[in-house]
Amino acid sequence: MLNIGCHLSASKGFLHMAEEAVSIKANTFQFFTRNPRGFRAKELDMNDVEKYLEYISDKNFAPIVAHAPYTLNACSADKKIRELAKDTMEDDIKRLEHIPESYYNFHPGSHVKQGAEKGIEYIAEMLNGIITPEQNTVILLETMAGKGSEIGRTFQEIREIIDRTEYSEKLGVCMDTCHIWDGGYNIVDNLDRVLDEFNNIIGIERLYAVHLNDSKNPMSSHKDRHETIGNGYIGLEAITRVINHPQLRTLPFELETPNDLDGYAKEIEILRSLYNE
Ligand code: FE
Ligand code: FE
Ligand code: ZN
Repeated sequence: MLNIGCHLSASKGFLHMAEEAVSIKANTFQFFTRNPRGFRAKELDMNDVEKYLEYISDKNFAPIVAHAPYTLNACSADKKIRELAKDTMEDDIKRLEHIPESYYNFHPGSHVKQGAEKGIEYIAEMLNGIITPEQNTVILLETMAGKGSEIGRTFQEIREIIDRTEYSEKLGVCMDTCHIWDGGYNIVDNLDRVLDEFNNIIGIERLYAVHLNDSKNPMSSHKDRHETIGNGYIGLEAITRVINHPQLRTLPFELETPNDLDGYAKEIEILRSLYNE
């Protein structure tokens, strides 16, 4: 079975997200851990969490993805902003420890004018200050489009972060199809080669989840503008190869396409029909 879901609003809690997911025939979902602008997080409602776990227990759910606020910048030149990123992540992960089968995805950050090396150093420093050998939550570094001075456009940069992190067994990668395409990896004409490169540099066993998006822009545009499935430069044929690829097909796929719930339901229906059972 294809493990597919989409980004949902967390404002009404976990049970509500799971019910919404089921209503659109999803068996996973993604959500922001907190308002990306406001940074404040609600206390975890353990009653909601229990009901959620009970609800999904017989529904064949794949792991879910918690997304850090995209305004976090772990490699800002400003120490206060770096500390805010660390405190936010530490708190998010503490709460996620109560949600079995969840991954924590974050954008590595933007180095602005400091250079990628400095940025990578700061990101690894933050991870080293957060990760404990006891934690269950796997932290996912998201592959980025390379907009501005984003770290994580290349597989090498992600490898370097992993190499500098002490408990790197807690680190994985979430591959965003729009981002790697915009970043210059040709997943349309040569998906095998891109995955070989991923495997050689990072190791395919580090890949835990996929953000499934089409792109409004051609390859190497470094733009990061998501398009609905089949209506962008990646296209439905290439996306069909992505969901069926032997190295990807069992992973959770999360749609982050510009859609309302109905739009997501339609995309999920199409993608399920294109999946080779
Ligand atoms: Fe993201
Ligand atoms: Fe993404
Ligand atoms: Zn994006």
